[in-house]
Amino acid sequence: MTLIDTRTPDAKRLISGATGDWEIIIGLEVHAQVTSQAKLFSGASTAFGAPPNANVSLVDAAMPGMLPVINEECVKQAIRTGLGLKAEINHKSVFDRKNYFYPDLPQGYQISQFKQPIVGEGKVIVSVGPDRQGEFEDIEVGIERLHLEQDAGKSMHDQHATMSYVDLNRSGVALMEIVSKPDMRSADEAKAYVTKLRTIVRYLGTCDGNMDEGSLRADVNVSVRRPGAEFGTRCEIKNVNSIRFIGQAIDYEARRQIAILEDGGKIDQETRLFDPNKGETRSMRSKEEAHDYRYFPDPDLLPLEFDQAYVDALAKDLPELPDAKKARLISSLGLSTYDASILVSEKAVADYFEKVAAGRDGKLAANWVINDLLGALNRAGKGIENAPVSPDQLGAVIDLIKEGTISGKIAKDLFEIVWNEGGDPRQLVESRGMKQVTDTGAIEKAVDEVISANPDKVEQARAKPSMAGWFVGQVMKATGGKANPQAVNDLVKAKLGIE
Ligand code: ADP
Ligand code: MG
Repeated sequence: MTLIDTRTPDAKRLISGATGDWEIIIGLEVHAQVTSQAKLFSGASTAFGAPPNANVSLVDAAMPGMLPVINEECVKQAIRTGLGLKAEINHKSVFDRKNYFYPDLPQGYQISQFKQPIVGEGKVIVSVGPDRQGEFEDIEVGIERLHLEQDAGKSMHDQHATMSYVDLNRSGVALMEIVSKPDMRSADEAKAYVTKLRTIVRYLGTCDGNMDEGSLRADVNVSVRRPGAEFGTRCEIKNVNSIRFIGQAIDYEARRQIAILEDGGKIDQETRLFDPNKGETRSMRSKEEAHDYRYFPDPDLLPLEFDQAYVDALAKDLPELPDAKKARLISSLGLSTYDASILVSEKAVADYFEKVAAGRDGKLAANWVINDLLGALNRAGKGIENAPVSPDQLGAVIDLIKEGTISGKIAKDLFEIVWNEGGDPRQLVESRGMKQVTDTGAIEKAVDEVISANPDKVEQARAKPSMAGWFVGQVMKATGGKANPQAVNDLVKAKLGIE
């Protein structure tokens, strides 16, 4: 690929070395496992967590004479992902053999796409932030290509004292390799990019994005240079499997390279590994070149061809993607960019929110989901899939506030009860006597009592009207928080004769 510099150096992304500022350049190759029932070229299952070698067909085990047959579902998933990345879809692509030896690669080569991938150039808008001021900054990361390839199996070295075992369950599972342009300039940008990519494939349903199960992992290419200078030599850190580790690997690697360069040394292009325990990268091998792999078109497979109508049919059924959803939440529900960004950032959160907001006040729903629900989940260390309060339950709490049955303050207590004990919010309000008192007679009585018990405060309030708040607080306390705050406020002011 020809490297084009798309960005001007930005002071806040630079890091300072002993001899001046440096700019980090990052390009990522993300491997995303295709969501499909069967493997790329065989009918074996892709289910995660099966006993070793339970999902291996003769093709996956590379028995002599076995022929690969393309799984159309995987092709569709790659095209859908390409569309989600606003990328060019190539109507003709070619499968090549990439030759290398690995104990867990029984074919002796990986079927991949080299010169003619199924998806060409695209782009992803990435929100980086929030920074200390709570601001997000949008950057654009170019996509170089997306190609389909087979995954390898897994060698296990810790099962036996003197032998290694091989599990071929993953062998032949379809991967999409998504190659970015070298458009990222900091660990935060790279982390935000992978997060966004994961969100997009999850919205599309083309990859489950579970990094801890190896469904999504990244090769991280890092180089450094003086701001605005030519691109420097890169190192590639293989197979990093968490977003946090991607950030750590980049920061470590950039520092390592800067130290070498400032010392008058030069960077060797090499493949490195990230050690999460030490937080370091270490050399694995010197970088191989494409010609080392002796790529050639796989004679067992015809070129993959389809027409524009095929692509259009897939495009028509694409779900709403995060950027579009965010724009819609801002324009039609009047949410702030900040709130909309948080709500769309995870598909499960967006789905939850949309259920709560359906037919209700969008801003109120957004506040409850972001502050109360996400806040509580965060404190409890739970994911939204395991939220103890369902969208229907939260919706009911919001309805009760809206119709004036409970005050916002009581609603917080109600939310906590539903969170801890479950139940129908409406029934809980009845059975626990949480209804807001809107009966002015009862409120008036409480106001009168507070006023007659505090003649000195009445004097003060007449001189200083902001003191009215103290009376409101006392009445709320006396009514167990159940009085309608607006009614209390109005009555207090009327009785004290202040505006
Ligand atoms: P290879 O398979 O040899 O690693 P690819 O073209 O598949 O080559 O991927 C190269 C990756 O490295 C791309 O993501 C690209 O953006 C990135 N890259 C290329 N040059 C640099 C550089 N100087 N610094 C950082 N990243 C780079
Ligand atoms: Mg690479």
